[in-house]
Amino acid sequence: MIPERLVAGWSGRRSARARVVPMPREALRPLAEVESARWIPRGGGNSFSDCAFLSDGLTLSSEGMDRILEVDSDQGSVLCESGVTNRALFHLLKRPEMRAWTLPVPGGTGQVTVGGAVAGDIHGKNHPAQGSYGNHVKALRVLTASSGEVGCSAEENPDLFRATVGGMGLTGFIRKVRLQLIPIPTQALQVQTRRIPNALQETIPLFDEEPGELQMAWLDLAGRRCRGIFHFSRPTSRPPRAPRRVLRLPIPRIALLNPWTSPWINLAIYHLHARLDRVVHPEEAHYPLDSVPGFQRAYGPRGFVEYQFLVRPGQAEEGLHRLVAAARKTPAFHCMVKRFGPHPPAGMLSFAQEGFTFTTLFVARPGVFEVLEDLTERLIPLGARFNLTKDSCLTSRQFEKTQPGLDEWRQVVRRWDPEARIQSNLSLRLGLKPW
Ligand SMILES: Cc1cc2nc3c(=O)[nH]c(=O)nc-3n(C[C@H](O)[C@H](O)[C@H](O)COP(=O)(O)OP(=O)(O)OC[C@H]3O[C@@H](n4cnc5c(N)ncnc54)[C@H](O)[C@@H]3O)c2cc1C
Repeated sequence: MIPERLVAGWSGRRSARARVVPMPREALRPLAEVESARWIPRGGGNSFSDCAFLSDGLTLSSEGMDRILEVDSDQGSVLCESGVTNRALFHLLKRPEMRAWTLPVPGGTGQVTVGGAVAGDIHGKNHPAQGSYGNHVKALRVLTASSGEVGCSAEENPDLFRATVGGMGLTGFIRKVRLQLIPIPTQALQVQTRRIPNALQETIPLFDEEPGELQMAWLDLAGRRCRGIFHFSRPTSRPPRAPRRVLRLPIPRIALLNPWTSPWINLAIYHLHARLDRVVHPEEAHYPLDSVPGFQRAYGPRGFVEYQFLVRPGQAEEGLHRLVAAARKTPAFHCMVKRFGPHPPAGMLSFAQEGFTFTTLFVARPGVFEVLEDLTERLIPLGARFNLTKDSCLTSRQFEKTQPGLDEWRQVVRRWDPEARIQSNLSLRLGLKPW
C-alpha cells in the first residue's frame, strides 16, 4: 500500500493527503493499482490550486521522466518526456547548435514541467507574439484510461489533442511531447521599465504605447494610490549581462509580507524599478521570481490565494476597478497585468483568449473566499474567464457559465474516460466529469 503524504498547491493553500507515486517510464499501463483506482497526473507541483492531486486515489508523478529524446537543430523541434522542465529546455538551448532557437512560451517559472505546461496550456508575457504553450505543441503521447497509450496531434486524434491541451491532466497521462521551438535573432533581451503613477487610468493604454516582445505591468495594491511599474523587453544585439545570482535566503514561513510591511516594500520597488534598462538572457527576463526561491513562504503559514481572471480588451479598465475594490476589502499587495493577443485557443478549455489578464495574490485570512466569490460574481457580467491552474474558489455553476468549450470537452473526454477514473480534487470540486 502506498503511504499518504501531505501535498498542496504552490501557494500552500488547498492541501490534502494523497498517495503520490512516480509513473513508471516504460510500462504501457501505469501500475497494477491504477487499473482499479482513480488517478491524476502530477508534474512539478507549480500550480496554485487543487488540480495536481487527488485525495481518494493515486497521484501519478512525472518525476524522473526527464529525458530529452530527440533534438532537431535544423527544424528546431524537440521530443521529450513530460517530466522535463522548462529550465532543462533552456539549458539545451545553450548548446552551440541550438543558439538560433528559443522556447516560444516559457511561462513564469523554469520549474514547470513540459507535461504541466501542456495540461495547463500556460502563457507568458509574450502572448500577443507567440500565443500559449499549446500553439507550439506538434504531437503528444497520452496514456488514457480506456485505450492505453495513444498518439494525438492536429492530424491524429485531433479531438483528444484539443481536449488534452489545457485539459488539466483529465484526459490521461501525457508521457511524451513534441515541441516546436521558435527562431530568435539573438539570445538577449533589453528589459526596460517606466512608472505608472496613476495605474487605474494609465495601465491599459501603456500596452500600445510601449511595444515590446514581452510586456507586463506590476501594480501596487497595498498603498493608498494604485500605481505601478510597466516592464517591456525587445530583442537586442547587445551582449546580456552575467546571469543574476539566485538569492538563496532562508525565508522563514512567517508573514513577512503583511498589511504593515507591504506598503513600504512596494514603495521601494516603485522607486528602485522606476527606470531600468538592462540587457539579460531570455531566461532571466521570463523568470524574475526564480531568483528568490521559496518567496511564497513570506506569506506565512496560511499562504495566499492566487486569483487570475481575463476580460476582453474593452472591459479591462472596469475589470481592474472591480479587482482594486475587492483588494480594499481583503488584503492583496500587488497584481500583475498581461495582454493576450488574438491567437486561436489551442485547447477546448484553454484559458488564454484575446484580452487582458490580472493575477493577484490575496492574503489567506478569514473572509477572503467570500470577497473573492463576490468579485467573481461582479466579473462574470464582464465576460470574465478564470484560470484553472490558479483557481481555488470557483463554484461549478460559475465555471460552467464562464467556459464556452466545456460541453464539447465533456463529450470528447467521456469517450476516452467513460468511467470518469481520471479525477483531481479540482475536477471533483467543479464537477467537471458529471457522468
Ligand atoms: C512562480 C510561478 C509563476 C507562474 N507563472 C505563470 C505564468 O506566467 N503563466 C502561466 O500560465 N502559469 C504560470 N504559473 C503556473 C504554472 O505554469 C502552471 O500551473 C503549470 O501547469 C504548472 O506545471 P507543473 O509541471 O508544475 O504541473 P503541476 O502543478 O504538477 O500540475 C498542473 C496540471 O497539469 C497536469 N499535469 C502535470 N503533468 C502532467 C502530465 N504528465 N500529463 C498530464 N497532465 C499533467 C496536472 O494534473 C494538473 O492538472 C506559475 C507558477 C509559479 C509557481
